[in-house]
Amino acid sequence: ITVSALRETAAGERRVAITPEVAKKLRSKGARVLLERGAGDAAGFPDASYADVEFAEAAQVASEADLLACVLPPDDNALARLREGSVVLGQLRPHGASARIQALAQRKLTSFSLEMLPRTTRAQAMDVLSSQAAVAGYRAMLMAAENAPKFFPMLTTAAGTIRPSRVLVIGAGVAGLQAIATARRLGAQIEGYDVRPETREQVESLGAKFLELGVSAAGSGGYARELTAEERAAQQQALADHLKVFDAVVTTAAVPGRAAPKILTTAMVEGMKPGALIVDLAADSGGNCELTRPGERVEHGGVVILGPLNLAAGAPLHASEMYARNIYNFAELLIRDGALQPDFNDELVAKSCLTRGSEILFQG
Ligand code: NAD
Repeated sequence: ITVSALRETAAGERRVAITPEVAKKLRSKGARVLLERGAGDAAGFPDASYADVEFAEAAQVASEADLLACVLPPDDNALARLREGSVVLGQLRPHGASARIQALAQRKLTSFSLEMLPRTTRAQAMDVLSSQAAVAGYRAMLMAAENAPKFFPMLTTAAGTIRPSRVLVIGAGVAGLQAIATARRLGAQIEGYDVRPETREQVESLGAKFLELGVSAAGSGGYARELTAEERAAQQQALADHLKVFDAVVTTAAVPGRAAPKILTTAMVEGMKPGALIVDLAADSGGNCELTRPGERVEHGGVVILGPLNLAAGAPLHASEMYARNIYNFAELLIRDGALQPDFNDELVAKSCLTRGSEILFQG
């Protein structure tokens, strides 16, 4: 079979779905690897770094691929050229994208979207949400440190002592915990907050303090559920009182398949210290702060709010390495005896499948 990847076409996207390491593993499984010329350039993997791989122009790659691995959904040009019955695998962003799903079905493509994987132990090695969230969390905290008008660590110098910055991370999932770990390494005084009670121990194990606001909202599958209006009001009241002390706040709160919860209101931002900074990692899905403008820098009453998009693409080499390993581990479930034979009895295969030929399996 021919396994392929194209140069990603989304604005600012620098990752690649197949790295030299994974190309080698695919070759050892007997697959032919065919990539678009320059597919890995922006991630730091020039064509010459791939051994035993063929390169061609995008149109030819798409028309010969049995399995097309992608980071973000392939564009219309690629979709139009893929052959009926071939497989598309990647982050296909299915929520609210019924036109895209219909296009996949119309083209009779079988598609797997790794965001849909259940978060089970066996799925961990294929879990792109985790691997890419770790990159995003790390980068969000570096962005906070770089944009803050203060140092993060405590410094004792001949010019006096500088107190460490106080940093809050809202949402202690994969991205939030990585943000906390990064802030710790930078020497900030760090607190973490989440609505899932089990995160307390995880936050504390990183040497951070857990901010207790008395709102608990564990949902199913290890995720948070959406807060009720009363819970949200209670959370905002309690949080508003605490926010005054922080120099930087990184927000990462998300509820699967929904717009990001709005946690920081304009009034809460107005209660923060002048010079304080918010990095809203949820900007991609609407933002956790009312004032966030995706992809922009907003200043409100002396507080700066950054809404960076697609942060994982900003560390493309390691992000691609992890992503490509996830792709490979999932592809192993699809390839048997050198042919594409997905086992739809396997829940990881079944639950991540959006379209199976012309049949739409995704239920939003
Ligand atoms: P996520 O990106 O969906 O959400 C980020 C965080 O925001 C979560 O911790 C969530 O609890 C929190 N949140 C949601 N609403 C909030 C609110 N109103 N206020 C404050 N915080 C709020 O989460 P994620 O990082 O993808 O991880 C979610 C869960 O999945 C965790 O339990 C994690 O351990 C688990 N997980 C399991 C696997 C696996 O076993 N394969 C892999 C990764 C993560």
